[in-house]
Amino acid sequence: MHDPSATSATVARTMQTASQRTFGLVESVIREMTRLALHYGAVNLSQGYPDFPAPAEVKEAAKRAIDGDINQYAITWGAKRFRDALARKASATFGWEVDPETEICVTCGATEAMFASFMALLNPGDEVVIFEPFYENYGPDCSLTGAIPRLVRLRPPDWHIPFDELEAAFNERTRAIVINTPNNPTGKVFGHDELEKIARLCCERDVLAVTDEIYEYIIYDGQRHVPMATMPGMRQRTVTVNAMSKSYSVTGWRVGWTIAHRDLTNSIRKVHDFVTVGAAAPLQEAGVTALSLPQSYYDSLAAEYNKRRNHLLGILEECGFRCFRPQGAYYAIADISRFGFENDTKFAEFLVREIGVAVVPGSSFYRNPADGAQQVRFAFCKKEETLNEAANRLRRLRDRL
Ligand code: GLN
Repeated sequence: MHDPSATSATVARTMQTASQRTFGLVESVIREMTRLALHYGAVNLSQGYPDFPAPAEVKEAAKRAIDGDINQYAITWGAKRFRDALARKASATFGWEVDPETEICVTCGATEAMFASFMALLNPGDEVVIFEPFYENYGPDCSLTGAIPRLVRLRPPDWHIPFDELEAAFNERTRAIVINTPNNPTGKVFGHDELEKIARLCCERDVLAVTDEIYEYIIYDGQRHVPMATMPGMRQRTVTVNAMSKSYSVTGWRVGWTIAHRDLTNSIRKVHDFVTVGAAAPLQEAGVTALSLPQSYYDSLAAEYNKRRNHLLGILEECGFRCFRPQGAYYAIADISRFGFENDTKFAEFLVREIGVAVVPGSSFYRNPADGAQQVRFAFCKKEETLNEAANRLRRLRDRL
């Protein structure tokens, strides 16, 4: 947005005071859309956060922790009780044995986990393979670190991996690959065979996998999440990034973590220590309660999201969108070409202003904006009445077909 108070003199001063590493950064489109939604009173299906409450027992545990005076710093790389709970959960769910003393770093959300991992493990000039469309933070993570993203395009409609291109993307400068499964924004769940092939490549070429698994429990059609770290040969070379945000509907708590081999963890802990010191201590304590919820909690989380997925897809198809059916996570990418807009940004502006629904323009998930120009992303982590209200508004779009 143009700021009329920014004269050329203030712009020049800003250029002198800003570091070069910030020049390429622009405001997150996802978070900007939330601001526009508030401004126009639109139903916000842009930024991916639930508008329904967190589990009552988890909220109670947070209140108890504050009343119990857990108000000072936790150990910088994570409160012991919380790390122990994370290790117990990994073992019970996936038979994945993690040492809570040396292999976990608790962070301020998955966002910090990802950034701290990049800062700790990549040198300027290292290449990082990233699948496109991608979650928009991975670009700034690279540019702040000085790493170079090498993109490999997933192929719609099933978003499969072109393995010949993936192999060709690996070269002597490749240091890491980012995997986000279940995937934001496509809803792709990486299959066992796909993970196996990626794992083989990583082992052959001595490459790290940084895997963002924050949607692990939001998965449909009877599929099961497979952590990359549990694939053959990957335990030593995987940084698993995760958080409480999505599994327990607490995106504002900012409690995330990394799980990785002790040598990798050591470096991640150093960055984390000097950037944030630590995640909120009472909320880590509440995390102990969250992580001990029974399997039925996760079953019903997935079942509720399945209902929301079907609800939103029904609405979108009725209104003239062509959708890519997500297999996991809580987003749907929709093709907007039938509405005849010049591009996704114009469509998203029209939608938030005239129709009253906020979405994320597809171009924010691609390096070249033209590649996402006929796509938008809807988030369906919303109450039934929110989706119904969006439906009432979106039906007005049918007049434009
Ligand atoms: N992951 C969520 C999204 O894609 C929220 C991101 C954020 O704003 N931290 O919408």
